Amino acid sequence: MAKRKKLYEGKAKILYSGPKKGTIIQYFKDDATAFNAQKHTVIDGKGVLNNRLSEFFMSGLEEVDVKTHFIKRLNVREQLVKFCIAIPIEVVVRNYAAGSLCTRIGLKEGTKLKRPLTELYLKNDELGDPLVTEDHIMAGNWASQFQLDEMTYLAVRINDFLVGMAYSAGLRLVDLKLEFGRYWDGEYEDIILIDEISPDSCRLWDFDTGQKFDKDVFRHNLGSLSEAYMEVARRFGVLPVEAQDYKNNPKLLN
Ligand code: UDP
Repeated sequence: MAKRKKLYEGKAKILYSGPKKGTIIQYFKDDATAFNAQKHTVIDGKGVLNNRLSEFFMSGLEEVDVKTHFIKRLNVREQLVKFCIAIPIEVVVRNYAAGSLCTRIGLKEGTKLKRPLTELYLKNDELGDPLVTEDHIMAGNWASQFQLDEMTYLAVRINDFLVGMAYSAGLRLVDLKLEFGRYWDGEYEDIILIDEISPDSCRLWDFDTGQKFDKDVFRHNLGSLSEAYMEVARRFGVLPVEAQDYKNNPKLLN
């Protein structure tokens, strides 16, 4: 078997060259970071759970004709995805106020927004991923107007789909962050969803009690992050068998 090449290592994932041209292997690490990596730890099994959850959400999106980079899960920590040129913009969709929206414009956490709010951030660690306008993106040539329109259209569709999925699992989708890439299918270029959808990249609260089951548990020391992510996986019916006895044997998720 040809030796695979590491193409990129990020805070929570590693990308390797895939077995066929046009494919990439996405490896989910256990590292958890927050506040632009100022806070960092390793959480046993986080990568395993995010791999499953991202597979679950992206497969569901494919079923409703939203194109994603996901091809198939390879093993507990890796999935095969389509090679794309990543667009360096994070699209955040919010249904309720939380996180930076509260600190930036003073809304109380949990305030229901009159309609979903879409925000654009430039992916740039050195600058701390600043909020940008469409004009900034055009001026910096980070995406074309067409690509941006497609990204925001898809982000709203993805949010609607996930709000419903979360509701059926007794969870409230407060907000989520999405990334998109340019995918060449041999004839046309498409804008498709890349990266991951997991409790690392969205906020999920219990629908009735408001208990948090996402990365805020780590950001604000609210308890065990693996317990929270396992509860999310359990509610969506994708908790891996190997994680069932996790409490007695944490190494099961390694
Ligand atoms: N988010 C993310 N990666 C980032 C920044 C934000 O996945 O680099 C997610 C975050 O988990 C939340 C949503 O995007 O679900 C909105 O995040 P916010 O702007 O409130 O930033 P925060 O205050 O959480 O850093």
